[in-house]
Amino acid sequence: MAEQNLFEEVKRHLCSCSADLQITPNLEAVMKLPMRELHVSIPVRMDDGSLRAFSGFRVQYNDALGPTKGGIRFHPDETIDTIRGLAAIMTWKCALHNLPLGGAKGGVICNPKKMSQGEIERLSRAYIQAISHFIGPDRDIPAPDVYTDSSVMAWMMDEYSRIFRKTTFGVITGKPLSLGGSEGREDATARGGWFIVREAVKDLGIILEGARVAVQGFGNVGSHAARIGQGEYSVQVVAVSDSSGGVYAKDGLDIRALLDHKEKTGSVRDFSGARNITNEELIGLDVDILIPAALENVITLDNASQVRARLIAEFANGPVSGDADALLHARGIPILPDILCNGGGVIVSYLEMVQNFNLDHWEGEEVNRRLEKKMVDAYKVVHDLASRNHVPMRQAAYTIAVGRVVKAMKYRGWV
Ligand code: NAD
Repeated sequence: MAEQNLFEEVKRHLCSCSADLQITPNLEAVMKLPMRELHVSIPVRMDDGSLRAFSGFRVQYNDALGPTKGGIRFHPDETIDTIRGLAAIMTWKCALHNLPLGGAKGGVICNPKKMSQGEIERLSRAYIQAISHFIGPDRDIPAPDVYTDSSVMAWMMDEYSRIFRKTTFGVITGKPLSLGGSEGREDATARGGWFIVREAVKDLGIILEGARVAVQGFGNVGSHAARIGQGEYSVQVVAVSDSSGGVYAKDGLDIRALLDHKEKTGSVRDFSGARNITNEELIGLDVDILIPAALENVITLDNASQVRARLIAEFANGPVSGDADALLHARGIPILPDILCNGGGVIVSYLEMVQNFNLDHWEGEEVNRRLEKKMVDAYKVVHDLASRNHVPMRQAAYTIAVGRVVKAMKYRGWV
C-alpha cells in the first residue's frame, strides 16, 4: 500500500478547518485520536491442515452523531494507521452526508488472492468471533471494502447471528439481496460519485457527453464507475487499470466487453483493441476527468505534476496525498474530495439499515432517488461554502463535517 501515512494525511485535513471552526488546540487534539480500537489475533485452520494467526483491527473513530459505520478490508499491506485514517474519513463522510452515524473501519492483514474460498470463509467468521462484543446494529455496523464482498458480509452476518442466537440483518450492510441486502448497494458508491461529477461539471463548464475519462481500479467502485459513466452519461472511458496494470484505447473502451475479459482472464490487461499501460501512465493521461477508484495515496508529489486531467473525482478513499493536493490546487485542477464524492456507499448502507430495522425491502428506484437527493444536497452545501470562502472543496467539506461532529460532541457535553 502507500508509503505515506493516511492517518497523518487525514489529520492535516482536519487542521485545515480548525481556524474557521474556532477549534481550540486541546479540542483539536481530542479530534485527532480514535475513541476506541480493538486489535485481535485470529487463528484460522488452513486447507493444508496448518494453523495460521492473522492480525485484525476494528477502529471506532467517533460516535458523537450515532453508531459507528465503516467497511472491512482484507489486504496484505494493511496497517493500523491506514485503518485509523479510513475510520476518521468515515466519521467526516457520515457527518457531511447528514447521516445519524459515526465513523469506523476494520481490516485484516491477509492476501485473499492467495486463499481458497473455504479459508476466506473461516477467516471472515473467526474475525467476527473476535470482534462480536465490539460491534452490533446499534453500536458499530461493518460493510464491504477492498477485497471483501457480499459473500463475506453474508458469512459475517451469519456468524454474528449464531453467536447471539437471532438473525441480525442490521449488524452488517452490503449483504446479498436475498439476505437483507438493499437494491442499489452494489453500485451505490460509483452511482453516487457520478451524481457529484454531474453537478460539478455544470459549475466547471465541462461537457459530460463525450468527456474523456480514466478510471484507476476495476473492482467494485472502479468497474461500476466505468460502466455507469459510459452507459448512463455517455462519457468516453479511454483507460482503466487494476493491480496488474491498465489498458488504453484512444476512442474509448467497451466496458461490458472488458468486464467479460476481466472475468475470464483475471485482469484488464491484453484486452483486444487496447494498448497496455502502467498505473503511472494512467495518472498522467490527457483526459477530462481522472477517477482514482483503487487505493489511497496514488497521486503524490512524485506524480502530481504529471496530471493533465481537468478534474479529479476521488471515488477511492484518500487517493491524493496532502502535498499533492496543495500542488494540484495551485495548478488549478479541482478535486472532488472523497468524503463528498464516494459517500454513496455509506448512504445506501444506511438505507439498508433502515430497511433491515423495518423488515422492509424497497424498489431500486426508491433507493436511487434517495441516494441522488443526499448526494446533490451535499454537493450544494460544499460548493456554496467553497465559493463563499474561496477555499478548495476539500476544506469546505471538512469544515461542514467536522463542525457537525463538534456540535454533537458539545450537545452531548463531551467537550
Ligand atoms: P475492490 O477490492 O472491489 O477493488 C479494488 C480495485 O483496486 C481492484 O480492481 C484492484 O485490482 C485495484 N488495485 C489494487 N491495487 C492497485 C494498484 N496498486 N493500482 C491500481 N489498482 C489497484 O475495492 P472497492 O470496494 O472498489 O474500493 C476501492 C476504493 O473505494 C477504496 O479506496 C475504498 O476504500 C473506496 N470505497 C469503497 C466503497 C465501497 O462501497 N466498496 C465505498 C466508499 C469508498
